[in-house]
Amino acid sequence: MTASQESPLGDVDVEAVREGLRSWYREHHREFPWRETTDSYEILVSEVMSQQTQLGRVREAWEAFLDRWPTVSDLAAADRAEVVAFWTEHSLGYNNRAKYLHEAAHQVRDEYDGEFPRNPDELEQLMGVGPYTANAVASFAFNNGDAVVDTNVKRVLYRAFDVADDDTEFERAATELLPEGESRLWNNAIMELGGVVCGKTPQCDKEGCPWREWCRAYQTGDFTAPDVPTQPDFEGSRRQFRGRIVRALGEHDELELDELGPRIRVDYTPDGEYGREWLRGLLSDLADDGLVELEEDDGTVVTLLGQ
Ligand code: SF4
Repeated sequence: MTASQESPLGDVDVEAVREGLRSWYREHHREFPWRETTDSYEILVSEVMSQQTQLGRVREAWEAFLDRWPTVSDLAAADRAEVVAFWTEHSLGYNNRAKYLHEAAHQVRDEYDGEFPRNPDELEQLMGVGPYTANAVASFAFNNGDAVVDTNVKRVLYRAFDVADDDTEFERAATELLPEGESRLWNNAIMELGGVVCGKTPQCDKEGCPWREWCRAYQTGDFTAPDVPTQPDFEGSRRQFRGRIVRALGEHDELELDELGPRIRVDYTPDGEYGREWLRGLLSDLADDGLVELEEDDGTVVTLLGQ
């Protein structure tokens, strides 16, 4: 295998990584009404609205818009000035987006017999629909999208799997991770992970990131990313030590406390400042997060739990 054919994800267990994210997303994702629908028109409206507006505010506007123009034919039949006025009243950003949305409704009615096309390339033919929006509609409405690669996804792939800061590599990594036939769930999940958990200041433990076990940034404590050039300001060192514990336990099935300690700090001494008590503090956080298990006896054995 030549270097260019090597996986940008390295030798990570892709299936375990997928399952980690799927389960996390099923339990933790934020609920938005457009995530409950597979109606392509409703999804397109939500995507166009959220390009410039915070999701919390989009909810109300989206519901009002769909009350007023419930279907793509209703929107196509509407007066353009009214659609633009709605956009302004709800502070949804550039009016051109309202005009394009109205025009796209005409295209669906006149060129596609009122039925949205189902794949990203055709969806991109609609007015105002760029590659990102086309892929979002294909994924969320038809479960027929490609792997989404936006800034949030790049950040999480870079931190977690050390993917090179290069668009082709990000694309390859994202595509390799996408489970076949699951673009609806997967693209929602990876965007949520990158946007909510692995933001500029990541919330690895607080949000229970499902990728901590594999994450290079979590292990090394280096949380910079293409769009985060300097180390984000947060409780770095504790997090860094927790990362080292996860990594050390990944290399050994289980370790006794005094075997683990020196692997975490060179100055570990069982009864010293950085000794058993300090280590137990870190381990109990990790145990609360379900990452490790402590078997309390004289030696105290610590085991890494699978995700
Ligand atoms: S462990 Fe932290 S840095 Fe790594 S992917 Fe999760 S949130 Fe991002």
